Amino acid sequence: MAGRIRDDDIQTVREKAKIEEVVSAYVTLRNAGGGSLKGLCPFHDEKSPSFHVRPGRGFHCFGCQEGGDVIAFLMKIDGLSFVESVERLADKYGVDLRREEGGPDDRPKGPQRRRLIEAHAVAQEFYADHLASPDAVQGRQFLAERGFDQASAAHFGVGFAPRDGESLWHHLRDRKFSLDEVVAAGLVAVGRGPYDRFRGRLLWPIRETSGDTIGFGARRIFDDDKIEAKYLNTPETPIYKKSQVLYGVDLARRDMARSSQAVIVEGYTDVMACHLAGVTTAVATCGTAFGDEHAKVLRRLLADHEEFRGEVIFTFDGDEAGQKAALKVFQGDQKYVAQTYVAIAPDGMDPCDLRIKEGDAAVRELIATRQPLYRFVLANVVTRFDLDRADGRIDAMREAARLVSSIRDQSKVTAFAQEISRMIGGDLDTNQILSEVRRAAARGGRTDTRAAPQDQAEARPRRELPDLRDPRFAIERETLKLVLQHPIAIGRTTADIGANDFTHPTYRAVWALVEAAGGPAAGDGDPSWASRVREAATDPEVSSAVSALAVEPIPATHEPDAAYVAHYVFRLLELTTLRRIAEIKSRLQRTNPEEHTADYNRMFGELAALEQHRRTLRDRIVGA
Ligand SMILES: [Zn+2]
Repeated sequence: MAGRIRDDDIQTVREKAKIEEVVSAYVTLRNAGGGSLKGLCPFHDEKSPSFHVRPGRGFHCFGCQEGGDVIAFLMKIDGLSFVESVERLADKYGVDLRREEGGPDDRPKGPQRRRLIEAHAVAQEFYADHLASPDAVQGRQFLAERGFDQASAAHFGVGFAPRDGESLWHHLRDRKFSLDEVVAAGLVAVGRGPYDRFRGRLLWPIRETSGDTIGFGARRIFDDDKIEAKYLNTPETPIYKKSQVLYGVDLARRDMARSSQAVIVEGYTDVMACHLAGVTTAVATCGTAFGDEHAKVLRRLLADHEEFRGEVIFTFDGDEAGQKAALKVFQGDQKYVAQTYVAIAPDGMDPCDLRIKEGDAAVRELIATRQPLYRFVLANVVTRFDLDRADGRIDAMREAARLVSSIRDQSKVTAFAQEISRMIGGDLDTNQILSEVRRAAARGGRTDTRAAPQDQAEARPRRELPDLRDPRFAIERETLKLVLQHPIAIGRTTADIGANDFTHPTYRAVWALVEAAGGPAAGDGDPSWASRVREAATDPEVSSAVSALAVEPIPATHEPDAAYVAHYVFRLLELTTLRRIAEIKSRLQRTNPEEHTADYNRMFGELAALEQHRRTLRDRIVGA
């Protein structure tokens, strides 16, 4: 291996590299006068810019005191070693690095970041070329049906992964990439031998702000694709962090900075549709919900004033999932709420559908008719109650006040109270709502259990969750252990499982993580499957449950096979069916067949169907 990089070459890199250019890929910089530039510090959380860049000199943050030259900036922001940082800049600015003979090798262990980026550049081109191949006809159809022609596909670098499972690996090997490098890049995995991670799928390159490809999102297009997950993403790698990546940010960043606006959509095709329709500030998260890390990335790109005044617009479905997502944003980063808007498409259409059905103008209109997030969330809460009744109005006020009591910014609370008063109407004025907010704040945001006994179950603090090892949850526990430990044996049997099959909130959360990671099939052949699921957990209790489930022994005398797994899955489904049956029976008891004949008959029919379904499951359990 080569030795140290010569000092005079490092000096040349320092002279040629333009720090303002390098920093601009991460932070939007504005003129600060006196030849200086400034922006929001990427190393600490701030609302007004104290991060200064002086071309030819270096950077310094007056908030957190971080500072240094262009090499130090890259080391810090991308977690590079000194040598990797120098190599990346040398590459960008065309400096040839010579190395001292026989000096100590100061390269870090593991492939360099630069190699991972290069491998992705080769892979992206390879995949894009294959979109024109005869095998990719279904991929091209998929795009055409969604209104994307060849030029749009090329603009976004969309590609196709050949089905044979080895082409990319061979191509990269011919280009002198080592197996270590392409595995670390997440492009190739190793089972019995090396194989391409993405096979027979339509691919979108996921890029950094700089435009470098760091990962892919892959959509299922063949019915016989053994992996059932509709979307697969690059796993966590040294360059791909899913909590931070935003699809489309490379194309959107300039207009985001210019307009101080960002639009968050849900999928790759939505980003494409928005950009083609003229909403050029659209981005999407990749295989994960929008979180605080994404918010930080956006804030740095949007900020252009002393005080942050950018606008973040989420496109949500008006349905329950969309409402939940909105609520999550509302309860997330507080600094953000006032600048956050939601755009709800008619009939729950996403931007891609909307563009197909109603054209580009409808997409622009959707974004233009955004409403403040807080109004959307409060309206969802309030309209759950019967506002024609006095007690319904009181309950609505309590629930809305509880939500508002979590807002730390007092200047917003009064405005929200006015809004609630307007929404609920009747005899409740702003002052009554404000005092309810104060009461809720004093209770720590929990519903008052004395005043509203019917809400007790919901108001119980989280610590009182039932024991995970309670025998009531044994089947849920064993199923999840199999999902985490033997995703291969799981196969198709899990296709019928849904979140409702888990009654313990922690187990339901674990299942949600499994689904978010692509479902059990996505774990097939992935040695880091369980850790991938665990790392996605934000709640420490859920994370620790995953670690336990991933290691606890399976009570089987032999290696679990498909039949063994099926037994648990059908048992789990049977329990859900039994719960449904009990529920309907109790409702039947409360229903008067004379008064509500139609309802009664419908429930009776449903009950019969459920009993039949249960018998089928029973037979399968015995058969398994
Ligand atoms: Zn700072």
